[in-house]
Amino acid sequence: MRTDSFALRHIGPRESELKEMLDTIGVDSLDQLIYETIPDDIRLKSPLNLPAALSENQYAEHIGQLAAKNKIFKTYIGLGYHQAILPAVIQRNVLENPGWYTAYTPYQAEIAQGRLEALLNFQTMVSDLTGMEIANASLLDESTAAAEAMALLHAVRDRKQKKDDVNKFFVSEETLPQTISLLSTRADFLGIDLVIGNHQEFEFSSEFFGVLLQYPGKYGQVHNYTEFVSQCKEADIKIAVAADILSLVKLQAPGELGVDVVVGTTQRFGIPLGYGGPHAAYFATKEEYKRNLPGRIIGVTKDVDGNHALRMALQTREQHIKRDKATSNICTAQVLLAVMAGMYAVYHGPDGLKYIADTVHYSATNLSAQLVKLGFEQINTTYFDTVRFKADSAAVKTIAEENEINFYYPDSETVSISINETTTLEDLNAIIAVFAEVAGKECDSLVELLENEAIPKELSRKTEFLTHDVFNSYRSETELMRYIKKLERKDLSLTHSMISLGSCTMKLNAASEMLPLSNPQWGNIHPFAPVDQAEGYQIVLKRLEDQLTEITGFSATSLQPNSGAQGEYAGLMVIRAYQESIGEGHRNICLIPSSAHGTNPASAVMAGMKVVVTKASENGNIDVDDLREKAIKHKDNLAALMVTYPSTHGVFESAIKEITQIIHNNGGQVYMDGANMNAQVGLTNPGAIGADVCHLNLHKTFAIPHGGGGPGVGPICVAKQLAPFLPGNPVIKTGGENAIGAISSAPWGSALVCLISYGYIKMLGSKGLQKATEHAILNANYVKERLNEHYKTLYSGERGRAAHEMIVDCRPFKANGIEVSDIAKRLIDYGFHAPTVSFPVAGTVMIEPTESESKAELDRFCDALVSIRKEISETSAEEENNVLKNAPHTLKMLTSDEWTFPYSREKAAYPLDYIAENKFWPGVRRVDEAFGDRNLMCTCPPTEDYA
Ligand SMILES: *Cc1c(COP(=O)(O)O)cnc(C)c1O
Repeated sequence: MRTDSFALRHIGPRESELKEMLDTIGVDSLDQLIYETIPDDIRLKSPLNLPAALSENQYAEHIGQLAAKNKIFKTYIGLGYHQAILPAVIQRNVLENPGWYTAYTPYQAEIAQGRLEALLNFQTMVSDLTGMEIANASLLDESTAAAEAMALLHAVRDRKQKKDDVNKFFVSEETLPQTISLLSTRADFLGIDLVIGNHQEFEFSSEFFGVLLQYPGKYGQVHNYTEFVSQCKEADIKIAVAADILSLVKLQAPGELGVDVVVGTTQRFGIPLGYGGPHAAYFATKEEYKRNLPGRIIGVTKDVDGNHALRMALQTREQHIKRDKATSNICTAQVLLAVMAGMYAVYHGPDGLKYIADTVHYSATNLSAQLVKLGFEQINTTYFDTVRFKADSAAVKTIAEENEINFYYPDSETVSISINETTTLEDLNAIIAVFAEVAGKECDSLVELLENEAIPKELSRKTEFLTHDVFNSYRSETELMRYIKKLERKDLSLTHSMISLGSCTMKLNAASEMLPLSNPQWGNIHPFAPVDQAEGYQIVLKRLEDQLTEITGFSATSLQPNSGAQGEYAGLMVIRAYQESIGEGHRNICLIPSSAHGTNPASAVMAGMKVVVTKASENGNIDVDDLREKAIKHKDNLAALMVTYPSTHGVFESAIKEITQIIHNNGGQVYMDGANMNAQVGLTNPGAIGADVCHLNLHKTFAIPHGGGGPGVGPICVAKQLAPFLPGNPVIKTGGENAIGAISSAPWGSALVCLISYGYIKMLGSKGLQKATEHAILNANYVKERLNEHYKTLYSGERGRAAHEMIVDCRPFKANGIEVSDIAKRLIDYGFHAPTVSFPVAGTVMIEPTESESKAELDRFCDALVSIRKEISETSAEEENNVLKNAPHTLKMLTSDEWTFPYSREKAAYPLDYIAENKFWPGVRRVDEAFGDRNLMCTCPPTEDYA
């Protein structure tokens, strides 16, 4: 038997178990099951046209050869991206560690205290450095964070400033070009009038609700904004600042000036450039805006015993609850990267960061002095890490590239050079040599860095930061390794057991897919490096686009969006641009079924659309009559339908082609939410159902790990008429001929993690991909049948089958006083993460096993649920003191001298035999959600509070 096939490793059930599983389901073959699951009229007639699978070893060689095609130059381009040093202890114990990268978003706080603490560290770091009161736990990139800042200031203007007709937003021309492009994409449909200009000439008119400044400016100049800020305040104009996080170590914190929002990227805190991402952005603001803060916030609370505990705070702001009224559409963010950046601060502490920032700064000032000696004129007067010289760009560029050096060339007479953490004396001398050659002069080498400051006293930082113990305790590697491990051990990840999160597709993230991420040939390329230096990337990204285009049955793909929700927004904007191009730009109605994911309506609103909700019929499907009625009613203004397929109810609706036809007949385009693509790959596709555009969640279907809530990649795949409008980038050409503005900072979004999906497709090939889909459907239907006698599955297809997931009803147990959350918490005692709770139907769980789980693991999971069902039948609404309500049970409870519960310790902790040999202990007892929201605290509490 060949054991080098990747499909064999990726797919859980063994060939020999197939018959038993099919018998349980009641079908003769896998083909029959698929026949009973997917409607005939949308089945693909031929296999996907993709190359044959590579073995893991062949893939390692293949991807290594492509890596070698990337040319790694010394790069001083800056513009929001700087080479950084990832400490090996963080690389090995976080980035390369499935205990961290396979975890889910920390909704189940009791088994997520580790990553919650790591994210609280991140928030504390951001609050300290920016001088702001409150920070979130990461956003997607700097440019989208800036757009969120604009949206926040816009949203609060009428409430705070009583001026809802004021729609102008000023953006300093020194803002990063990708941010300006993204802001103009966003501003359009929010009704915001962007004014870009020189802040020194700004007139502080009351027509403006807010401003955005870059600190330092894109070419490195540091302005003193004190006067500007106070004049804004006088004019009641709110201020956002996009700040370089490392510069804040040396520069006065924007918070001290009294600004309203500070955003930026934490990439240079140890995160590889990765040709654009993923990197965590930060967003910090004032306490008074906490309810408008986008994204996730980690807060301090307590568990039922009053012990210190963490959890995600203020979740009622988010799209899951607020839908079209949410503060943003952010769902997946950059959790793993925020964990790493926070650990970088733990690793270096305040003194280490000061050393790094000083060295970067002195490198810049010493370089400047040498270039001035050579006769070049430095334009920047006050700067942190970037010098800007008048010089013949073309001449400099030629010699620099011969020496494998990249600078940035704003125009034909200017060269901009950004120094970073990795820059050595030798590197500086190499830069000096380039300029000496251009000048035709000799120049002495630098032999040491003099402590020359280019930051005047009034602009330099005087306040302390990172004073908390966590940033001052782990200098030895032994200590830091143990700290990281201590946090990791508190969290349940795929290294422990299956995570059956419906709609999230927590499948295997194979080591072979992950290994290339550690290769500096992939890590060390700047997103704005000349394209011919990134040949390896260009090949991978182009092929991945083509493969996704083939898989979706469409005509073109953009990899730019950094999450599914960003894909939704991008797709809708592309629809709008297309409709505009055919004289139908007035179309603005978006039909969305009631069962849709919360990001759908939130994204539609960002794209300037009005959401009209369509009903579900009794069997959970889209009510076609209601949909038709609404499509006809709005036919003059119908822009789009957003539809998830198979539905969020886990069903392949047979009316789907009729539905897409109705929308087309009434002038709309069909947006398919592709989060459930794992049930389609190789068997059907969005093109076949008649959709026009879809996003894919590469972090669900295509094996990018969940990372504890990110990174993600949310490419959009589009039909022919939409292809010309795929998003562009202002620095590097990408996207369609009539590209809409940027959706993300980087031209190809999070290029580094695209390698994972590329590897996934390469190693499975056409057959393996189809087999994976078939097994995802097999596993779901096996679980459905195994639970059948004990739980009711809410919806099935016409022939009684689930797609790749199913909704299990827990509402009947209310009669016994049991809520769905009690079941979720009790599963922890059985060693499992809860399935998706109360989406899309309140009081239910949605189970998605994925193809990667073995029959043995599915059986353990089903045994756990069956056993819990039995426990439910033993409870009553009158008696709260039971094994479900008290779940999860901690080791501390179990080993306490006192045991006052009306059931045994054994029943609490070891209700089934399999648990004893692989017990997972939750870190805390059930957390108090409400307490934390009432007493919001979003930075590390003083150490004595832990006692
Ligand atoms: C996950 C999901 C989304 C959002 O994707 P993110 O990557 O988290 O932004 C949208 N729709 C559905 C149905 C999903 O499951």
